[in-house]
Amino acid sequence: MEYRRCSSCIPESGALTGYYQPGQLSPGFLASLLLLPLLLFHPGLGLAKAELCFLVTIWNMLQVSHECPVDKEELGRSTWTFLHTMTAYLPEKPSPQEQDKLSNFFQIFSRVYPCAECSQDFQKDIEKHPPQTKTRKQLCKWLCEAHNRVNVKLGKPKFDCSLVDERWRDGWKDGSCD
Ligand SMILES: Cc1cc2nc3c(=O)[nH]c(=O)nc-3n(C[C@H](O)[C@H](O)[C@H](O)COP(=O)(O)OP(=O)(O)OC[C@H]3O[C@@H](n4cnc5c(N)ncnc54)[C@H](O)[C@@H]3O)c2cc1C
Repeated sequence: MEYRRCSSCIPESGALTGYYQPGQLSPGFLASLLLLPLLLFHPGLGLAKAELCFLVTIWNMLQVSHECPVDKEELGRSTWTFLHTMTAYLPEKPSPQEQDKLSNFFQIFSRVYPCAECSQDFQKDIEKHPPQTKTRKQLCKWLCEAHNRVNVKLGKPKFDCSLVDERWRDGWKDGSCD
């Protein structure tokens, strides 16, 4: 299975979530040091892209991981990333056994998710709206709608579920993830 990877800016910007000892410089920082002169003075880079990369570089330079436990927001972002990516890469038509396993997965997930309020509400939500596991598309849509119900509860904007494959599997049609 091939995963897309956004590579339009600094290749190792993903390194900012790596595991480093407190105070240790991340590879993102070291890459930034090497790339900064190139980004600033390379004649072939357009201004907007150079500016964007400069901002990412500064961001990377500020990243010194302290390896702290995650909070509710960070846990949520990582978990949604995992869930949407998992469903995005399922076979188009999961077998009946796979469908059962997917339903079980979400039932168990809703019980063990380590945020009491989130877990309780998600259990109730799943009871009202059981996972639609017949096809990949249906499950992606179901998950998107479940995520939107959490977004609404938290006062965040709803996501357009017709764009879920672009966001989590194919990359945006404008090529910004290529
Ligand atoms: C199952 C679950 C239940 C949660 N319940 C709670 C709760 O009760 N209270 C609480 O405070 N926090 C809860 N959270 C965490 C919360 O949903 C967010 O993850 C957290 O607040 C960080 O939000 P964010 O704005 O960074 O983006 P997130 O909501 O984490 O989204 C990450 C990215 O997903 C994309 N996205 C957004 N909406 C959708 C969608 N509908 N479909 C597809 N992609 C989308 C966007 O690109 C976004 O940047 C829950 C998380 C999970 C996984």
